Amino acid sequence: MRTRVPSRDLLPRVLRGEVPAVARLLSRVEAADPECRETLGEVYARAGGAHVVGITGVPGSGKSTLVSALARRLRQAGHKVGIIAVDPSSPFSGGSIMGDRIRMQDLANDEGIYIRSMATRGALGGMARATLDSVDVLDVAGFHHVLVETVGVGQDEVEIVNASHTTVVVSAPGLGDEIQAIKAGILEIADVHVVSKADRPDASRTVADLRQMLALGMVGQEKDRTRWHPPVVATSALTGQGLDELLAALEERRRLFAGSEEGRRRLRRIAEYRMLKTAEEILRRRFHEGSAGRTSELLERLLQRTISPHAAGEQLLARISGEG
Ligand code: GDP
Repeated sequence: MRTRVPSRDLLPRVLRGEVPAVARLLSRVEAADPECRETLGEVYARAGGAHVVGITGVPGSGKSTLVSALARRLRQAGHKVGIIAVDPSSPFSGGSIMGDRIRMQDLANDEGIYIRSMATRGALGGMARATLDSVDVLDVAGFHHVLVETVGVGQDEVEIVNASHTTVVVSAPGLGDEIQAIKAGILEIADVHVVSKADRPDASRTVADLRQMLALGMVGQEKDRTRWHPPVVATSALTGQGLDELLAALEERRRLFAGSEEGRRRLRRIAEYRMLKTAEEILRRRFHEGSAGRTSELLERLLQRTISPHAAGEQLLARISGEG
């Protein structure tokens, strides 16, 4: 068996961008290994340089194809790109490339691209914490663009907005006559709208529908010039159409974070979400570890109706947090 390298010894190698060290630290992040906590604190202190782009949309909308195409473009421009695929339906993790992501394998041979799948099933709220910590690890390892792709459908789609600087919502032609993002409730979270598969003849219709929807949403609202207005970009991974435009929009977003009030608001929102999610995870863990055996007396009183569920909940919480 390999001797286990302490996380603090992995850190200098992570900072040099050594991929095996990055992979090992990420496994510990994902497993919520307490041993790496202190190292993650150091990572956090050094992070903040990467532009984090969340990419979401219903299955089949072309997200992973777009992520590959974007990553390739960013590589051509000389950037290192980290990709985190968040998969709420998969129990598998640990950097595996999922079966349907074979097309990404040509990227996997490139040293400047790091792809990681993260399973979130049964993560008990740990997905957000693990994803955000992973983004930081990639950030300090020199991956200055981190693309976070949600693979399945679920809460993660909506939560991605709290974890990324820029949220790209992908809509596609040919998946029904409605804009799917509306149905999925994710239209509002877009900082950039992408209509994928622009090479298809029905794509212009999807673009027009989307623009109309967005215009309707604007009615009654002053168009504020100081605020970011989500552009609609039609892209094709097949022909390369729109990719430069999308990169330009992302670059503009990146500049926004350099000094605008809107950028600062988003960063504050991400930090707040992160703090709350981490607190939630700590509580859940303590609850699972620490409540066993000590709930029985409360439970008894609850059954006898000598305490209310609310009061019992409060007392349980007080006991758990009393552990410090
Ligand atoms: P995801 O489920 O959102 O990740 O979608 P995929 O990236 O797996 O794409 C779903 C399907 O759309 C696949 O069959 C792709 O080959 C196809 N597709 C993706 N991008 C394009 C595109 O730009 N043009 C065309 N014509 N098809 C595309």
